[in-house]
Amino acid sequence: MPILEKLVQPGQARHWTDSIPLEYHYTAGVAGEEFRRELRDNGRFLVSKCSKCKSTYIPARMYCPSCFIESKDQFPIDKPGYVYSFTSVNRDRSGAETDSPITVGLVKFEGVSGGIVHFLDADPDQVSIGMKVTPSLKNQSERTGNITDIRAFKPVSTGPSQMVAEAGKVERRDVGPGENPARLLLRSIEESGYPIEEDEMTISALRSKVAKGELLTHEEDRLLHRLGDKAREWRKAVRSSSETEPGDTLSG
Ligand SMILES: [Zn+2]
Repeated sequence: MPILEKLVQPGQARHWTDSIPLEYHYTAGVAGEEFRRELRDNGRFLVSKCSKCKSTYIPARMYCPSCFIESKDQFPIDKPGYVYSFTSVNRDRSGAETDSPITVGLVKFEGVSGGIVHFLDADPDQVSIGMKVTPSLKNQSERTGNITDIRAFKPVSTGPSQMVAEAGKVERRDVGPGENPARLLLRSIEESGYPIEEDEMTISALRSKVAKGELLTHEEDRLLHRLGDKAREWRKAVRSSSETEPGDTLSG
């Protein structure tokens, strides 16, 4: 029917059903592709590091969002991540009830911005914020460079109380005569599991200064102590959440 012709009788309306084949190709981008290739071939996560502000990002990205310069340094990360946030659901995507609850979390890595959202292979009541986790990957022959190459993240330790105990042990071990207090404080901030993401630039600047043996200015020293306080509060919160029984926090 020509486009300008009008129907005058509703009964003249006709329709038919058909389909138009459309094919999409999405690319992961240059850095995204390298991240996937490293995951597929070597089972590791690639992070990128900005040469200017020294911030690192996971997954690896092409440009530093703070400096707008190309992040040419990329390297695989080899430390466990930690649970930054999590939830559990009892229904799948189609709304059908699942046999057992599915736990999903945002996994971050100390000193690295960004993170990976994925399944957590643990009972929801065993998961806690700050809990250390490590990826459980498919066998190399099954990996395709997809995020599903990761089956899930599973706990490294038995729980947060052990992590806190470990961090405490590290702190005690490090206290010795002649230790630089700023270095100690930096280390305790890093080991508290406190998500330093937004303070990463500040911390990396302080870290490089301390590493060179330079003295911090009064202002920087105050900043470091403020971050130390934040980390201590974070650690306290992690400890108290691990000591709180689920019955104490669930309402109804
Ligand atoms: Zn940068």
